[in-house]
Amino acid sequence: ANLNERSQLEGISLLEKLFHHLLMNTEEGHDALEYLLNRGFNESQLNQYKVGWALPGWETAAKLLEKKGFDLSLMEDAGLLIKRDDGSYFDRFKNRVMFPIEDSKGRTVGFSGRIISPEKNEPKYLNSPETPLFQKNSLLFNFHRARGAIRKEKFAVLFEGFADVIAASETVSNAVATMGTSLTKQHIQQIKRLTDTVVICYDGDHAGTEAAYKSSRELASNGMTVKVAKLPSGEDPDDYIQKFGAEKFRTDIIQQPLSLMAFKMWYLRSGKSLQSEDGRLSYINAVLPEISELSSAVEKELYLKQLSDDTGVSFSSLEEQMKSYSPVQKQIQVIPESVQPQKKSSILKA
Ligand code: ATP
Ligand code: MN
Ligand code: MN
Ligand code: MN
Repeated sequence: ANLNERSQLEGISLLEKLFHHLLMNTEEGHDALEYLLNRGFNESQLNQYKVGWALPGWETAAKLLEKKGFDLSLMEDAGLLIKRDDGSYFDRFKNRVMFPIEDSKGRTVGFSGRIISPEKNEPKYLNSPETPLFQKNSLLFNFHRARGAIRKEKFAVLFEGFADVIAASETVSNAVATMGTSLTKQHIQQIKRLTDTVVICYDGDHAGTEAAYKSSRELASNGMTVKVAKLPSGEDPDDYIQKFGAEKFRTDIIQQPLSLMAFKMWYLRSGKSLQSEDGRLSYINAVLPEISELSSAVEKELYLKQLSDDTGVSFSSLEEQMKSYSPVQKQIQVIPESVQPQKKSSILKA
């Protein structure tokens, strides 16, 4: 199995070099290169991330792999080829810009291919299928490169798309992205080995906002400190960088994140009309339990004040109402206090 895996990695690596060469140095790759440069990637980024181009033909990769003596059924298992009924093989990726996907050791284990002109029923991105080497539930794009920067900066930036990682790479090197899946425990554990702080920077659309809310809860429940860098409505990091540049993206977006509570309040407010009584009440009822769980008295006051400003309900009424939400956590802590008096001091501090 180990030999097979090595051969698959070699096959993937051969295609990576082929695709990259086709993009950077050939007439066939000209339109794709122009597309990438037009959308703001520069040559050094394309070289660093080894971006490539897969030709429109059916058997470019299959023929090369065969010529080089690779076992084509192994290459099928690696997600590079697809078998026809007659036993011959054709290329999984064609007519697409190819983004190599590396694992945490920096080995290329698969690809994501993007169409450059819309075609009937073609998905925008086509990923390698799940294989023992390519597992989206644990892959974080750029993790290998970002590791040092995440440690140094003491936080990781989490993007929705790998295109955003590349676009931001000039000024934000501590960034990773999931491969279109939601954030899993495995993803979180990998980040947690380097830092306990994550800045989520997802797309400024409905899907991105919902996903950010979900990911923020997952991260927080795994003990991480979460902040959310919000983008102007409708823009993703890569759009923003094209408009305003990577420097402004870093200083105005990544370095100005909302706290988790501020993001939650924005999120819970956004679906409701605070003009109506019903809207204000349901906003208050959603936010108060969250505020009551904050451990810091200063933060409690800060967000209660914000809630009061948002709704026109007095601070003292909100504070009084908040008493009805006694956090479950604290009730549990009261019980061991009498049973384990030696832990008393740490309980009081918490
Ligand atoms: P681009 O700027 O090239 O349009 P993006 O990074 O903005 O790409 P999104 O549409 O925001 O892409 O999607 C975020 C991520 O979700 C992508 O990086 C990709 O991993 C995944 N994704 C999006 N569309 C598809 C698709 N049709 N099939 C598989 N994965 C997809
Ligand atoms: Mn998106
Ligand atoms: Mn996007
Ligand atoms: Mn985009």
